[in-house]
Amino acid sequence: MAELEQRGERTPVPSKWEYASAPESREIVRLEERYGLFIGGEFVEPRSEEYYETLDPSSEERLAEIPQAGPEDVALAVATAREAYENGWSAASPAERAKYLFRVARILQERSREFAVLESLNGGKPIRESRDVDLPLAAAHFFYYAGWADKLEYAFPHRRPRPLGVAGQIIPWNFPLLMLAWKIAPALAAGNTVVLKPAETTPLSALLFCDVLRQAELPAGVVNIITGDGATGAALVKSEVDKVAFTGSTEVGKAIQRELAGTGKKLTLELGGKAANIIFDDCALDQAVEGIVNGIYFNQGHVCCAGSRLLVQESIYEPLIEKLKRRLTTLRVGDPLDKNTDVGAINSRQQLEKIEELVAAGKEEGAEIYQPPCRLPEKGYWFVPTVFTNVAQSYRIAQEEIFGPVLSVLTFRTPDEAVEKANNTPYGLSAGVWTEKGSRILWMAQRLEAGVIWANTYNRFDPASPFGGYKESGFGREGGRHGLEPYLDFREDSTEVIGG
Ligand code: NAP
Ligand code: MG
Repeated sequence: MAELEQRGERTPVPSKWEYASAPESREIVRLEERYGLFIGGEFVEPRSEEYYETLDPSSEERLAEIPQAGPEDVALAVATAREAYENGWSAASPAERAKYLFRVARILQERSREFAVLESLNGGKPIRESRDVDLPLAAAHFFYYAGWADKLEYAFPHRRPRPLGVAGQIIPWNFPLLMLAWKIAPALAAGNTVVLKPAETTPLSALLFCDVLRQAELPAGVVNIITGDGATGAALVKSEVDKVAFTGSTEVGKAIQRELAGTGKKLTLELGGKAANIIFDDCALDQAVEGIVNGIYFNQGHVCCAGSRLLVQESIYEPLIEKLKRRLTTLRVGDPLDKNTDVGAINSRQQLEKIEELVAAGKEEGAEIYQPPCRLPEKGYWFVPTVFTNVAQSYRIAQEEIFGPVLSVLTFRTPDEAVEKANNTPYGLSAGVWTEKGSRILWMAQRLEAGVIWANTYNRFDPASPFGGYKESGFGREGGRHGLEPYLDFREDSTEVIGG
């Protein structure tokens, strides 16, 4: 004991941890050589006859061939969803709808390891995150909305909620299965049928999900999954759907809104962000450092609500940055399937190039860059966790969404200044506040233009809590009772009121 204590005094923290690799086996995942489009409960060959390859971004290894759905395929999927809506699903009892959602939730839990491995394989995210975050949250979302399916009248008292019909849903690559759950669960709970397009680079978990739907014996055609690139998404937006739900870039969101203007189709947009994570000098500094790291390096920073702008009160700037840099040296970057990995691969070459371009612009404009020493794998798409200090508000790295593991640090002196700087962005999705004072948390929350505000924590999600943005971060909410509303029609209300 005495010896241990002595050693402890000399080196309170071991100077170097060596981790043996602890890879999760990929045996549990069975990949097809080539997939089909999931239409009417069956995998069908695309009428377009076109395919593309999907990769493992950590090795650039080819995983499978994926159909590129063309306009004819999109039309078929939408017609199939329409038929399923009209001939069965819309007349199914609410409890019946709940039954399928509960089944899906339970099957996702049972098969969570398989899904987690596949998600890491195709998306590059660390297995620790897909296992502990993506999968539990995806299942929780289905459980949560299963509970609402037969209680819509209670969710919206004195109103008459009705389904809309067919929902066209388009999702990004950063949380492929979780975004699918956010879209499909409320749509089905509200009594709609669905055509969903996953992102081009991450189609595999959505395709495996089709197997879950069959296992749950969901009636054919209620959920249809069509793969392809942006052109497939654009065709889905133009098709005969009653509602479009989109998560992705602000640029594409704007194009979709223009396309739908005047059509009467309902729309929700979940777009980008440039969140401020605001650190006051009275906060618990070490906890804040963990929150900062979780805020920006979680999922390689491929997070729309990532705390990508760090606002630090001037009085604690130096100790905080020192602690943060030290913490960065302990992040393990590498094999997404290794259970010790903290930061995995960048999702695609295209995204890597975008990150590199913005980081180069940051250096050019005069910010100071810090990257911990780090050996990156030779193949695949990688980016070292990065901190920029000396950042001016006008710099591109303070204004534009980088969507990578890159943090821009700014300072402030007073709460007013923090609010002003935090709100100085076209986005308004999320924010973080770190302080001992409860009154200050509330004062800040009232003034920050952000859909979600975390206090003394970051990147916490719960299906019961609505999520969504202001300004160029979009409109509409996902999660909670609020997340049902965009999938429901209340129009009869007004006639009732007018008719007396
Ligand atoms: P994106 O191009 O907006 O893609 C989102 C989804 O929309 C994907 O399924 C995409 O298909 C599809 N899409 C692309 N063009 C379309 C169009 N004209 N009409 C309809 N659908 C279309 O975003 P991204 O390429 O994945 O990433 C670009 C940037 O978007 C990121 O760097 C980040 O800034 C932002 N982003 C935000 C979120 C968020 O959660 N808010 C998530 C991901 C990305 P393809 O996959 O084939 O392109
Ligand atoms: Mg794209």
